Amino acid sequence: MNLELLNLESVRALYIVSAVLFILTLGGLSNQKSSMQGNMYGIVAMSIAIFATVFGPQVSSNYGLLILLLLLGGSIGLMLSKKVQMTEMPELVAILHSRVGLAAVLVGIVNFINPIQEYFGIEKTIHSIEVYLGIFIGMVTFSGSIIAFGKLSGKISGNPLALPAKHYLNLIMLLIVIYYGNEFVSASDINNATTSLTVMLIISFIFGVHLVAAIGGADMPVVVSMLNSYSGWAASATGFMLSNDLLIVVGALVGSSGAILSYIMCKAMNRSFISVIAGGFGTESSVVSSDIKEQGEVQAIEIEEFKTMISLSKKIAIIPGYGMAVAQAQFVVSEIISILNKKDIKVLFVIHPVAGRMPGHMNVLLAEAQIPYDIVFEMDEVNDDFDNIDLSIVIGANDIVNPSALEDPNSPIAGMPVIECWKGGHTVVMKRGMSTGYAGVENPLFFKDNTRMLFGDAKESLSQLLTLNN
Ligand code: NDP
Repeated sequence: MNLELLNLESVRALYIVSAVLFILTLGGLSNQKSSMQGNMYGIVAMSIAIFATVFGPQVSSNYGLLILLLLLGGSIGLMLSKKVQMTEMPELVAILHSRVGLAAVLVGIVNFINPIQEYFGIEKTIHSIEVYLGIFIGMVTFSGSIIAFGKLSGKISGNPLALPAKHYLNLIMLLIVIYYGNEFVSASDINNATTSLTVMLIISFIFGVHLVAAIGGADMPVVVSMLNSYSGWAASATGFMLSNDLLIVVGALVGSSGAILSYIMCKAMNRSFISVIAGGFGTESSVVSSDIKEQGEVQAIEIEEFKTMISLSKKIAIIPGYGMAVAQAQFVVSEIISILNKKDIKVLFVIHPVAGRMPGHMNVLLAEAQIPYDIVFEMDEVNDDFDNIDLSIVIGANDIVNPSALEDPNSPIAGMPVIECWKGGHTVVMKRGMSTGYAGVENPLFFKDNTRMLFGDAKESLSQLLTLNN
């Protein structure tokens, strides 16, 4: 059965419509207000892309298998989106990136074994480079994303793997990949080409593992967006292999937006991109554990005293962190905002760019709880204004409010801009105990004179504030 409803021109026209919609998707997702619309554009763009591909001239048989796989993939995606908790989202994103990488590897191998057409001369050289590069980027994305998944889900340690001469190791692996790339492109028979490809596959797998394993906990936000970028380039390379214009454009969109995001993340953490990729920063919890004894005692606060403190405040800054996501406390926070508004207490949210476990994590949670966008501010917008803030409530955040990032040059997070809430009137930190945050660094904020600790699960503690009216 041949269901070829569209000719090549119609497919190209639909691909252009789809590409434009994908660009509008990115534009929409850059702002919370327009993000729903952006998502809709994305859904329509993807549907058009699938329709044009399936009913275009490149597919002329095996419709049953295609539909089966579409249904299978779609159902798995639907199931995951319903089942996965917000806190597990970064791991999910990482493991999905690994699938994009694997897809690029598999398409590349199939294209190598059975090219869509025969190439000669310069075209053959270009095609071989496309295949080799596509498989290389795909494999690095695949293995790197698996390690990122392990680190983000806590299945493997977040500590940076510091092998001796690790930079040389990376360099040697890259040189081997380039050498075999040359062998692959100039190979006169299939056996030589297969050998080169196999060596490259093994080396690039190890390269991806090493690249991400060498990056420490504190720099993981950059890794997440960097792998996002790699997965885009892998898709783009697949587009070149398959001569699919839409895949090239969409891959490049993902690749470049991921690269821009990595740059923004680096700026937010005061790191240079090269130093992050070169690896080595991050978790060294042992560095600080001895200092903590000198910091004195923390001052706990009970809920009734906290209520009084809130009632006496005119302006309150709420600083959410990963713990708010764990506790799923955003909905209670939203209810508390309404109560405070009624009491004429001004409330604003301060968001750190790397709060939580993925870019934009806190914004997503706050939007989910219908917190108005106009009271949500970036760290830079508020940091100079803490003099005017009576009370900062830190909900399950730790690294993003750690003064040692500014005060201790030996801290693993030294140089990272943080939310300087200790410059305000009082700070109350809500967390369950004294454990460290993702970067594994102790936090002197907890020991400051104007800081009080409200111990307990953030959602439970906040729920007790709901009686603030009475
Ligand atoms: P942190 O990981 O520094 O701290 C979170 C704190 O929340 C913990 O100290 C924990 O303390 C507390 N917590 C956990 N569960 C609860 C709960 N149920 N109720 C109350 N508190 C709870 O989070 P931050 O948001 O401050 O910082 C983010 C960190 O994650 C940064 O180091 C960043 O580099 C990293 N990262 C960010 C990514 C991104 O893209 N945004 C990606 C990967 C990593 P306790 O156990 O005592 O309760």
